[in-house]
Amino acid sequence: MQPNSEYFTDVLIIGSGAAGLSLALRLADQCKVTVLSKGPLNEGATFYAQGGIAAVFDETDSIESHVQDTLIAGAGLCDPSAVEFIASNAKDCVQWLIDQGVLFDTEITPGGESRYHLTREGGHSHRRILHSADATGKEVETTLVQKASTHPNICIRERCNAVDLITSRKIGLAGPLRVVGAYVWNRRLERVETLRAKTVVLATGGAAKVYQYTTNPDISSGDGIAMAWRAGCRVANLEFNQFHPTCLYHPQARNFLLTEALRGEGALLKRPDGTRFMPDFDQRGELAPRDIVARAIDHEMKRLGADCMYLDISDKPADFVMQHFPTIYEKLLTLGLDLTKEPIPIVPAAHYTCGGVMVDHCGRTDLNGLYAIGEVSYTGLHGANRMASNSLLECVVYAWSASQDILKQLPQIELVRQLPEWDDSRVDNSDERVVIQHNWHELRLFMWDYVGIVRTTKRLERAMRRIQMLQQEIHEYYANFRISNNLLELRNLVQVAELIVRCALSREESRGLHYTLDYPGQLENPKPTILQP
Ligand SMILES: Cc1cc2nc3c(=O)[nH]c(=O)nc-3n(C[C@H](O)[C@H](O)[C@H](O)COP(=O)(O)OP(=O)(O)OC[C@H]3O[C@@H](n4cnc5c(N)ncnc54)[C@H](O)[C@@H]3O)c2cc1C
Repeated sequence: MQPNSEYFTDVLIIGSGAAGLSLALRLADQCKVTVLSKGPLNEGATFYAQGGIAAVFDETDSIESHVQDTLIAGAGLCDPSAVEFIASNAKDCVQWLIDQGVLFDTEITPGGESRYHLTREGGHSHRRILHSADATGKEVETTLVQKASTHPNICIRERCNAVDLITSRKIGLAGPLRVVGAYVWNRRLERVETLRAKTVVLATGGAAKVYQYTTNPDISSGDGIAMAWRAGCRVANLEFNQFHPTCLYHPQARNFLLTEALRGEGALLKRPDGTRFMPDFDQRGELAPRDIVARAIDHEMKRLGADCMYLDISDKPADFVMQHFPTIYEKLLTLGLDLTKEPIPIVPAAHYTCGGVMVDHCGRTDLNGLYAIGEVSYTGLHGANRMASNSLLECVVYAWSASQDILKQLPQIELVRQLPEWDDSRVDNSDERVVIQHNWHELRLFMWDYVGIVRTTKRLERAMRRIQMLQQEIHEYYANFRISNNLLELRNLVQVAELIVRCALSREESRGLHYTLDYPGQLENPKPTILQP
């Protein structure tokens, strides 16, 4: 083990998606930044985002309209000041992405001028989604990775999992509680390292992997939420888990999303017999918000005993479909499905974590020296339901606002001299890895069955009993055996599962993404669900 002093930085950013890398680039001309990623640098939800990023670029659109649409989608639980803050800074922050080299699709106006092609998605009353064909996240992530990898002040450490935050209390420092570093599992070297930092930022993404079916990549295991909770931060609104209505249903393709923009461009949802059903549920039809569409699909699947429903855009000209959705078209062809000719089988899947670590407009958490930005955070933007294409936006707006605050605070912060090293002298190598595998599957399956799209109090209580049993087992395992990626993720997932169920049990109404048969009505004065450690 190298001595602690080998590892220190001004700002430690845990996560290399749109949030983490945007922040790193915003800071790096003025301080030293270290960015961690659990796997390869570009692996995160950002890379897989298809639809795009919302911002008012059309002169017939307005910031007020973006705010209103977001508030409506959020079903009475958005924080209006956060919504206004984000919508009014959207254009500048998207322009910053463009300045970094992100290429969004353009079109030629009838007058012969070039402008950004804006698409429309569920909940938006205007065309306001900038996109790069149907692979916007790939374009954003690849551009940011390229810029960050070549910046002399950014140190990138791939395959390094943050295990836990280190607080001043933990090391017996007097004064206000603050975060002074983190323990990090270096997967390549198989050892835990200690990183000192003046400021730590959680940009670890969401927690959709707590469910058996998800559109998210493997890294979305709620690590940041669990670490912040263990360190003493409040979390909020974790009962609001967004299920994307249209994930491909195919035995050979796990987690492949069929973007909402397909419905924006006219794709229809159909039963196995070819009839439409969305008009029976909502007058906005296929463009109703995601929660309504996901519940309608779930309802029809359960009512008919069907394995899936279908998404059909075959009425549109084949050229149009291939030009707008090239990635999806190609991917489906490899699976023997032709998007231009036939309906595509779909099911809902866990997609986005609306709640998270509570932060202010600068991404500051309850602890000094700790920020949270991107999907890991709860800013108040999404309320009870996230509107499509607002989340990449939240990442880049909070990367900007957090960078301003961090740069203001840094000169006053002293790096701690030394941190205690990780002690693994009393742990063994496990000869029972099957325990992790088993608990992992069990957790994700009962979260899907008991804490999914439609909930009841009884099912939530049943889930909580199982979570408590798993927590005990995992805690014992963690205390006795050397850590591994799967063990770290399981420990975090089971923590986040507990927080989700606690939030869900305390909301005695059905609102937005939280739907319970025991409380189908809505409270008059709804409040965010805030959990205090
Ligand atoms: C299939 C799909 C399509 C989507 N489409 C859209 C869309 O069109 N528009 C939109 O606005 N949103 C979309 N979203 C949501 C959006 O992509 C995410 O909310 C957003 O990208 C999150 O960015 P992030 O930077 O917060 O996290 P991520 O991009 O998920 O990055 C998280 C990072 O944290 C790292 N990390 C996690 N835990 C640790 C740890 N313990 N130690 C070290 N590193 C860690 C990971 O390695 C990764 O680098 C989509 C999501 C998915 C899954």
